[in-house]
Amino acid sequence: MSVTDQGVVEAVECRSSESPAPVLESLEGREVHLGSLPVLRVLPLRQRRMVGPWCFVDRFGPLTFQGNLMDVAPHPHIGLQTVTWLLDGEILHDDSLGCETITRPGGVSVMTAGAGIAHSERTPEENSHRLDGVQLWIALPDATRNGNPGFAAIKRVPLLDLPGGKVRVFAGSAMGVSSEALHYSPTVGIDIELGPRGSLEIPLTPGWEHAILVLRGDVALERTELDSGHLHYLGTQRQSAALSSHDGGRLLILGGPPFPEKILMWWNFVARTPDELIAAREDWMEHRRFSEVKAYRGPRLDAPSLAGFRPRPAG
Ligand code: MN
Repeated sequence: MSVTDQGVVEAVECRSSESPAPVLESLEGREVHLGSLPVLRVLPLRQRRMVGPWCFVDRFGPLTFQGNLMDVAPHPHIGLQTVTWLLDGEILHDDSLGCETITRPGGVSVMTAGAGIAHSERTPEENSHRLDGVQLWIALPDATRNGNPGFAAIKRVPLLDLPGGKVRVFAGSAMGVSSEALHYSPTVGIDIELGPRGSLEIPLTPGWEHAILVLRGDVALERTELDSGHLHYLGTQRQSAALSSHDGGRLLILGGPPFPEKILMWWNFVARTPDELIAAREDWMEHRRFSEVKAYRGPRLDAPSLAGFRPRPAG
């Protein structure tokens, strides 16, 4: 795969631009390719860089395949948590701490990069030939972003089986249940599966901002149909989200307090200054800071050239 296909190659300056009131902004995602894997990227977008601490959202699948679909060789991260959430299929994770896990539907994998970690992500040899899910990044706040790396595989997140549908909380707390995963600033990530003619009112924290990503089927918010190719930003000051579906649908709600710090993203790094990004790139290329992913046989990914490194002002 081409390294330029991976991560955010152009440096993107991100600052929260929360709406002081409820809104419904539907922002079109764009298709990118991770090797042979087509992905819909709905964060960061030119019009919106963050939702709470969430700073990156890739949607992949649903798709069926033969052989090995995903093979992302070892690559580094700093300053963020990755959150991998699957609806179908499986992903084998190996990292520089020696952690290995297979992420499966119903469980969540949370990798804390802190000052630096490297990992690979592959389709395991024994697999269902299907893949459907999201990979999300959460920016770490300044107080913890240079801390120790860590990895947590949670096999089963809380599930509420309600008359209108199923609610799974894969980050933070909602409706009285909490994910076990440790996060470093307030955040929420909820997967909602609405049955045919199903409806659910999901309570929200009014001071937080939220967004919806439709994963499957049809979903309406207060009778406005939401499509699956857009990130639907809800603004702040909402008490709840009234969701419904005709034939059944599935969606994510992501949210958190507007992130109080300006971040700078480049490739797989979240930092604050260009110098930090350049130093992390150099450390990766010189085999410093980031330990090797010993479980992966084959070359690691090279960092993209700095030629494309032009920090853009927040739009
Ligand atoms: Mn990664």
